[in-house]
This record gives sequence, structure tokens and C-alpha cells, in this order.
Amino acid sequence: MNLEVSERRHDVTEQSEHPSSWATSSGRKIIDISLELDATKFRMRTYEGFKKDMQFDIEVIKEYPGGLGQIVRGAHMRLHAGTHVDAPSHMVQGGKQIHDLALDLFIGGAVVADVRHRGGKEGITADDVEKSVGRHYQRGDRVLLRTDINKEYDGSPEWMARAPYVADDAVLWCAEHSLSVVGFDFYHANEPGPMDPENCTTRKLLERGIITMPYLTNLWSITKARVTLVSLPLKMKHVEASPIRAVVLEE
Ligand SMILES: [Zn+2]
Repeated sequence: MNLEVSERRHDVTEQSEHPSSWATSSGRKIIDISLELDATKFRMRTYEGFKKDMQFDIEVIKEYPGGLGQIVRGAHMRLHAGTHVDAPSHMVQGGKQIHDLALDLFIGGAVVADVRHRGGKEGITADDVEKSVGRHYQRGDRVLLRTDINKEYDGSPEWMARAPYVADDAVLWCAEHSLSVVGFDFYHANEPGPMDPENCTTRKLLERGIITMPYLTNLWSITKARVTLVSLPLKMKHVEASPIRAVVLEE
């Protein structure tokens, strides 16, 4: 694959002034669908049962003076901060961890299901997914659910309230059509009602071996029906999730 960047395109998103897509010398387009992690803006909610609140933060542990004249920073973050991938063990005790997952899950065909018509607490149905991607998907593909809600991500209760959820028949549709990954650009965890393990969209997918990829954004920049997703986790052992840099390649 020739991914040399020949020209920068300045498709500036609401998130930052960095470009969100690039054209390569081979004519391929790289679209960044990751959420920006900025310690001054990125906040996550801390729920009942957490041992501690751990917000994304960067700490300088060595300044330039001294030693080799280098600066060294460390990050405080949940493995679920920003764009990331959840392994089955996130929800299933004894389930596969990140290091158990085959890398080909993270590089391959993907389709964008346009579900922008689904508002807060509305179910995304099998029919919605079928209508949007039924003609384009291939078995093993990754499906990226597009609502554009993360265009205005702030982690607030209002942001959460705007999110639809994946209805049970859509979870089954994904399983029956052998989809491997479901990506979200909206708050992804719960169905309406009390916070209950049985109401958790992520659990329903992970229990079926379908990997979840939350905190995506910029899906509106994808113009092709079928694209290649590249979204590799860090090579960490014994963890249930990993940050990723998720990009889409358009031919
Ligand atoms: Zn997660």
C-alpha cells in the first residue's frame, strides 16, 4: 500500500484546526474518524461502582533541562477514553482480551449506516441498518453507525440524551450477517431505562463476539459506499480495551 501523503486537504472539523482528511499520491483518500483527545476539553462521566475518577490528562515527568535534554510526558487515561476498541472481556468475564483478537479485525472492509433520523433514546432497527448498508456490506465487514452526534461531543448528560441505541433486532442483524465490528459516533452503552447490565448495547454485541468501537466522529466525510477501516489497538497484554487511531481509506 502506498500511503505517501502528497497533498494536504484542509477539511477542518469542529474539533480542531487539524485537517481531517488527506489525499495520497496513489489517489487514495485517508479520512481520520478519531475523536480528538485534548486534556482541556475531553471529559468522561464516572459512574457508581468506579474505584476512582480518572480523566484524560497529560503530565510532564521530565522537563528538557537535565539528563539527555529531552522532555518526557505520561498520560492518565481510561483505556475507554476517546476512540477505542472494546474486547469481549469488557463485558464478559473470561472473554477475549485485546491481545487475543486477530489483527485482521482492525483492517478491512467497512460500511457506513446512515441512521441520522434516529433521535435520543430511539432504537436503531435492523430495518434501518438493512436499508442503509444491505446492498453494500460483505460478510465480515465492520459497520459504522452514523448520527453526527459526536460533532459536538462534550461528554455531558445532554450529549448522552441525544443518543439513539441499537435495538435488539439490529444486534441480531449484525450477528446473522457476520459483521465483525460495530462503530458508534454517539453515546453507545445504554438503552432507555435504568442503568442495568441487561440494557447495555455494548454487552449484547460483545456477547455475540462483535467488537465495539465507540467515540468515532467525522463519518460525514466518508463518501464511498464501501471503504477500508484501519484501526489498530495498542499491543497491550491483559486488557479489555485499547485506544486506537481510526482512519478510513477511500479508493
Ligand atoms: Zn469502551
